[in-house]
Amino acid sequence: MMTNAPAIVTTPEELRRHMGRWKAAGETSALVPTMGALHEGHLSLVRLGRAEARRVIASIFVNPTQFGPGEDYESYPRQMEDDRQKLASEGCDLIYAPRAQTMYPEGAATSVHVDGPLTQCLCGLSRPHHFAGVATIVTKLLVHTAPDIAIFGEKDYQQLQVIRRLVTDLGLPVRILGGPIMRDEEGLALSSRNAYLSEEQLAIARSLNKEMRRTAARIAGGVDISEALEDAEQVLLRGGFDRIDYLEARDAATLEPVSRPGKGQARLFAAVFLGSTRLIDNMPVA
Ligand code: AMP
Repeated sequence: MMTNAPAIVTTPEELRRHMGRWKAAGETSALVPTMGALHEGHLSLVRLGRAEARRVIASIFVNPTQFGPGEDYESYPRQMEDDRQKLASEGCDLIYAPRAQTMYPEGAATSVHVDGPLTQCLCGLSRPHHFAGVATIVTKLLVHTAPDIAIFGEKDYQQLQVIRRLVTDLGLPVRILGGPIMRDEEGLALSSRNAYLSEEQLAIARSLNKEMRRTAARIAGGVDISEALEDAEQVLLRGGFDRIDYLEARDAATLEPVSRPGKGQARLFAAVFLGSTRLIDNMPVA
């Protein structure tokens, strides 16, 4: 038996009833949008929400429009009861788990696009429709929930910057907070997609953060950026990764490329393949 398991609501109307009651009582709220298959990374954002607001709402929705053709939409792990249990133990107040036809009603023709340099690099190049899918669903979730705060992980750093842009541009009355990347004991960034990896692939995956850390330190120590990145690509490929989608150093705020550590804070960004599993990670150059 689960004690204090958060209720699951599936429609904007039910969600608004809960939110309305809390607002009327003067209680603040934080939304943590997720696609489920929850792990410590997600739960750390729920804890951040609890520290910042009286009520925490987690949304669980595997958003079809942010997956490209041939990506893992169908096979993406779905485990609502397990997720609910985890959210219960973190004191989450409510789960919003809308159905696809609620978020994309018959004939849906409205989408949100964030243009410009933030989406024309990194994951925006290799997953051309991804950020429009993310921007569209996050806008809908924010409109449905109307929280005081919405929390996103730095694991998806580019996504966080895109959402900050979107909220500023649309003047949405919500404060966006970023939470730090949660990692396993060997530094591997936690991800629902790690579940796809075999033991052997997991061991290779764990080398990514180490090589990125080494590269960040080399760059901070004055090694030429493109030389350090080329070296790292070779190391990763020799170490068993099947393909490097990108490994780049970019400005942490604008995501513009950096060719040498300068005024702003540089950040390393990587997307790599192990078989058909695509893993991403990022970290500051410091
Ligand atoms: P997802 O379910 O993968 O869409 O992720 C939902 C939210 O959790 C996003 O804001 C992610 O950035 C965040 N998240 C995923 N993995 C981690 C992690 N390892 N550490 C911190 N946040 C994470």
